[in-house]
Amino acid sequence: MTDSQKRILVTGAAGMLGSHIVDMLLARGDAVIGVDNFLTGSQANLSQVMSHPNFDLIEADISQGIDVSGSLDAVLHLASPASPLHFKTMPLEILRVGSIGTLNALDLADRTGATYLFASSSEVYGEPEVHPQSESYLGNVNTLGERSCYDETKRFGEAAADTYRRDRNLDIRIVRIFNTYGPRNRADDGRVVPNFITQALANLPLSIYGDGSQTRSYCYVEDQAAGILLLLESNVTGPVNIGNPTEYTVLQLAELILRLTGSTAGVRLLPLPQNDPVRRRPDITRAQDLLNWEPRVELQDGLTRTIEYFQSIVDSAR
Ligand code: UDP
Repeated sequence: MTDSQKRILVTGAAGMLGSHIVDMLLARGDAVIGVDNFLTGSQANLSQVMSHPNFDLIEADISQGIDVSGSLDAVLHLASPASPLHFKTMPLEILRVGSIGTLNALDLADRTGATYLFASSSEVYGEPEVHPQSESYLGNVNTLGERSCYDETKRFGEAAADTYRRDRNLDIRIVRIFNTYGPRNRADDGRVVPNFITQALANLPLSIYGDGSQTRSYCYVEDQAAGILLLLESNVTGPVNIGNPTEYTVLQLAELILRLTGSTAGVRLLPLPQNDPVRRRPDITRAQDLLNWEPRVELQDGLTRTIEYFQSIVDSAR
């Protein structure tokens, strides 16, 4: 290891976001230990780094704890199933990784002298009563119901990080991640962008939940990863929102994806899931002022790259 080279552990390394962060860390010369149990992450997302001399993979569930010898410069705790579909299909895994897994990741950072970065979520704002959402907004979250396994572990994760900061003097960073999409999203992930693109490529009608008037603000994964690494390298504890502040209705997103793919299949309306937030848009003033970060990739460009990715998966399966 050179003097400037850092040794960084990433939980959830085989996820869409984790794998892009791994790529960026290796590209800047760091040594990376990726941890994943491949519950929702995929081997393919790490295929480009498996033979990299500075990359090691530990196939493990952080909820069970992991042992790493030597010191670490940073622990990035990204691991968790994160799609609303998973809130239904794997709620206990989400509870475990967001609680026990989080404590294990914090203990690992504490033990190895690392800076700890926690991937929190816009879900801590729940069904927001203020718009756009700034970090000072305390949220309107339902402790019960389908989304609560995720929302409440993200809130717990922030509380846990802050407690280790006060009690153990741990150096922490908290990022609140808003809707993020891009290549390496799973096709069966259940979130709106992979759903709409895979449906459009198969010329099936796009599944709009509710009437499609609800809004989200979509951040391209490379922008998201760059923001997170800027936060890591800063001296800002956070929380800091990282997301794209341009807001679209779900119907507008569907129309854009239909146009970009040339699909003529149209849309079909399905029931809205429980506690699905009506509006969501990050206030990114803090990220702009403190990290000098803002997203660069427009939705149309990011979707074009994501469509190419999903098309290549379809082509290779033929
Ligand atoms: N959504 C949709 N069709 C889908 C998947 C999602 O209309 O096939 C809607 C969903 O109800 C929500 C928005 O798209 O209002 C974003 O959903 P996603 O699951 O991507 O993430 P969320 O922001 O809810 O965590």
